[in-house]
Amino acid sequence: MKLSVIGTGYVGLTTGACLAKIGHEVICVDNDLRKISLLKEGKIPIYEPGLEEIVKEGAREGRLSFTTEIAEAVKNSSVIFIAVGTPPKETGEPDLSYVENVAREIGESMDDYKVIVEKSTVPVKTGKWVRTTIERYNKKGVPFDVASNPEFLREGSAVNDFLHPDRVVIGCESEKAKEILLEIYKPLNAKVLITDLASAELIKHAANAFLAMKISFINAVAIICELANVDVKEVSAGIGLDKRIGPHFLNAGIGYGGFCFPKDLDAFVKIAEELGYDFQLLKEVKKINDEMRERFVKKVKDLLWNLKEKKIGVLGLAFKPNTDDMRFAPAIDIINHLIREGARIQAYDPRAMENAKRVLPSITYCQSPYEVSKGAECLLILTEWEEFKSLDLKRVKELMKLPIIVDGRNIFEPAKMKELGFIYRGVGRGY
Ligand code: NAD
Repeated sequence: MKLSVIGTGYVGLTTGACLAKIGHEVICVDNDLRKISLLKEGKIPIYEPGLEEIVKEGAREGRLSFTTEIAEAVKNSSVIFIAVGTPPKETGEPDLSYVENVAREIGESMDDYKVIVEKSTVPVKTGKWVRTTIERYNKKGVPFDVASNPEFLREGSAVNDFLHPDRVVIGCESEKAKEILLEIYKPLNAKVLITDLASAELIKHAANAFLAMKISFINAVAIICELANVDVKEVSAGIGLDKRIGPHFLNAGIGYGGFCFPKDLDAFVKIAEELGYDFQLLKEVKKINDEMRERFVKKVKDLLWNLKEKKIGVLGLAFKPNTDDMRFAPAIDIINHLIREGARIQAYDPRAMENAKRVLPSITYCQSPYEVSKGAECLLILTEWEEFKSLDLKRVKELMKLPIIVDGRNIFEPAKMKELGFIYRGVGRGY
């Protein structure tokens, strides 16, 4: 089928490349000229495992192309996915002006039936506005349908998540649109849930809020574990074995970050507020998440006393492993706090340092975990990259000025670290 995807970021590019991989002809559109020219040269503007290969394959086989022109894409496709950003405003509400701009341009460019699909995460009832906008600018009165197909992929495993999803949610209001979307996703052989448009929109916010809640729940349990001298890893293993709870998203640490959970949680609180409900539970989820970063800094201070002029090494900057994405990464708040206290930071991340330089310009960037360890009076682990788990810890210890590690992701075992001669603090591991 001939498709286009507007917005070529983490979601749009993955969606476009994967839809091409399963046999569709896809045009990816972005108004960022730099991104499109890089993509036309076969270069990927972001780091996402496996993405480069399928982008190149799609382009080589003539199923994937790139443009900056929405009109051109609309004319040459029957289904248009909107995957532009919905960033948070100061108030916590999502900024939907990008979605509106795209809807207007689609309306102006249509000359035969189209299905316009919301792929971006948008508040419930956005579909109505998308429909109204397209109607207003679609002067020729061309028929169209609006549908919602929220995306559940995770950065770091986006390609695999898209091609092997737990479920595909399709929210639509016409039989025709439903059949077209089912046809698009048929090659995936995935479990498909058909709903009305508004339910599909709400599913996305509810799912992300639930996952964030799971993280804050285990983090609150981790605080209790520290007070009771119990290991949260054992507690999460014990509760995760219950099928009704499940083992996922029960890793205690410095909390969630990234472009989705923080903004989607704020947005859901706002959506609820506008509908007349005070979603206090989610406010508490956010509060616990913020508190985890403060508690982490306090742990560092409890071990180092004054931070002024102290050399602190940081391993991991991205908001999670296997991505270069720094948006709302916990590392930003933690490092800024340490800098305010006068600490000197030297950091390493396998993929996110270029993006980190924009948000954390005043720290020293190193080329390896060992360079970070050199002369450090404390080492912090802020992202659980695989390569940190297999560090030569004896070498790390020799390079450090003081053998102190504060692990915000619980990648090491406290007993082993003690045996190696480290002063080691994880999150919720007891003392
Ligand atoms: P992103 O910032 O990486 O990409 C958005 C892209 O849209 C940018 O490249 C931008 O240049 C482009 N754009 C903006 N206005 C445009 C216009 N008028 N015409 C053409 N292109 C335009 O964002 P993302 O992380 O891909 O997220 C996109 C949406 O998907 C958001 O609503 C987000 O909440 C949702 N989502 C993200 C993830 C994730 O893990 N990143 C997962 C699921 C859902």
